[in-house]
Amino acid sequence: MSKSALNPATTKVTRHFDRHDWASGYCNVEKELNNVRVQPLRGTIPKELCGFFYRNGPGRLERNGQRVHHPFDGDGMITSLHFKESQLKLSNRFVQTEGWQQEEEAGKFIYRGVFGTQKPGGAIANAFDLRFKNIANTHVVKLGDQLLALWEAAGPHALNPITLETYGLSNLNGVLKEGEPFSAHPRFDPGHHGTRRMVTFGVKTGPKSTVRLMEFETEGKNAGQLISSRKDSFNGFSFLHDFAITPNWAIFLQNAISFNPLPFILGQKGAAQCLSSKPGSKGKFLLIPRDCGIFAGQEPRSFDAPDGFVFHHLNAWEQNKQIVVESIHYPDFPEVGPQDDFLTMNFDQIPAGILSRCEINLASKQVITTRFSDQCCEFATTNPLKQGRHARYSWMAIAERKEGYAPLQAIKKLDLVNLEQSIWSAAPRGFVSEPLMIPRPNSHVEDEGWILVLVWNGSRRGTDLVILNANNLKEEALIELPISIPHGLHGSWVNES
Ligand code: FE
Repeated sequence: MSKSALNPATTKVTRHFDRHDWASGYCNVEKELNNVRVQPLRGTIPKELCGFFYRNGPGRLERNGQRVHHPFDGDGMITSLHFKESQLKLSNRFVQTEGWQQEEEAGKFIYRGVFGTQKPGGAIANAFDLRFKNIANTHVVKLGDQLLALWEAAGPHALNPITLETYGLSNLNGVLKEGEPFSAHPRFDPGHHGTRRMVTFGVKTGPKSTVRLMEFETEGKNAGQLISSRKDSFNGFSFLHDFAITPNWAIFLQNAISFNPLPFILGQKGAAQCLSSKPGSKGKFLLIPRDCGIFAGQEPRSFDAPDGFVFHHLNAWEQNKQIVVESIHYPDFPEVGPQDDFLTMNFDQIPAGILSRCEINLASKQVITTRFSDQCCEFATTNPLKQGRHARYSWMAIAERKEGYAPLQAIKKLDLVNLEQSIWSAAPRGFVSEPLMIPRPNSHVEDEGWILVLVWNGSRRGTDLVILNANNLKEEALIELPISIPHGLHGSWVNES
């Protein structure tokens, strides 16, 4: 066994990490590989695991000696891991957006980043430059015969699902107008209304915000076609990164934050750095009826949300006259100011994400909130067949410490009914990313399948793919990948067709 390999689940680990190990995971991806065979360092790849694991995230974090101000400003790079008959092949390519091509040619940043990256030359060079670069770095999903690299402030980029070649910005066969935003957080309805479909949205924000809710076919000859679309306007600025679905509702949480664009216009801050929490104001749950559901055509409903801030939801379902929504709540909006260096930030000052459940009573409008655990977590997921239904199990990335913020180093399986938990840890030198749950084919057991997770291995300064048994989080295989993939964002699984 390699000395650099991560600790198996059975090894006792200390609860410390080295900041340099964590920081080393923010590096440029220096090469693009095409269909390169990779082999497990230990364990075997389950034979029933057949398909593609696609993953998006910032892959270019520095140009000409200038580092991005925040990793979310890094250009999107797609990794594809193709599983077939216990063999695995890796490809990776940057999403060749127009801005990426221009900056590659220029050899420096020529666009400002939403999260504070500035062009060289200080505020004078950046003032009144309100252009932005679609960095296509947040999520990747397959729709019809195309792979879509998503970034919520603009349209999707279409890619070849095998070669990862970028076709270009897509309007989805005329569905999107030029420049129309398209969320990076689609949800996949597993079949509440017959076949599986993709439900997603776009937000145009301002003093009044408009949400466009869209549903797409994902199967058969009409895969990729729009099924339905509706628009609803709400008062106030909206920062809607994610949402949740039930058979009848699309559920949003409109965080209580405000946007002051002046420092952005004057070249002092990135647009996202102009967001701040709005004291004395409450967030709202917005429930929009789905066009396929029993409330189709009705007006949206609004309910008070708990204090704090939410990026990601786990799941939602309907229960008697209630809507239950599970989300990761932060006590406050985590700001990264223009003077802050994300690599040296004080972890103790960063709010920790807490998995909580809100039960919304549609009749009385009462909302009851309960916390599952005080342990900091992110990227919580369910068995995908349970989206919109009551899921008993969740898998998520967690910090090693029991309270407070820290980098994510372990994967937790949580029984949402009795709160029993299992943990697989990559600590002290490994750092986990979003876990993906792949159900075992033809199984109806909710926690039967695998968890795939990319782990930054601080020891060898590289990325490992770890395959865990979803039931008990026992490691089934660990594969050292031949590229270094920075701490990333979201990914998806596509079964072999
Ligand atoms: Fe996200």
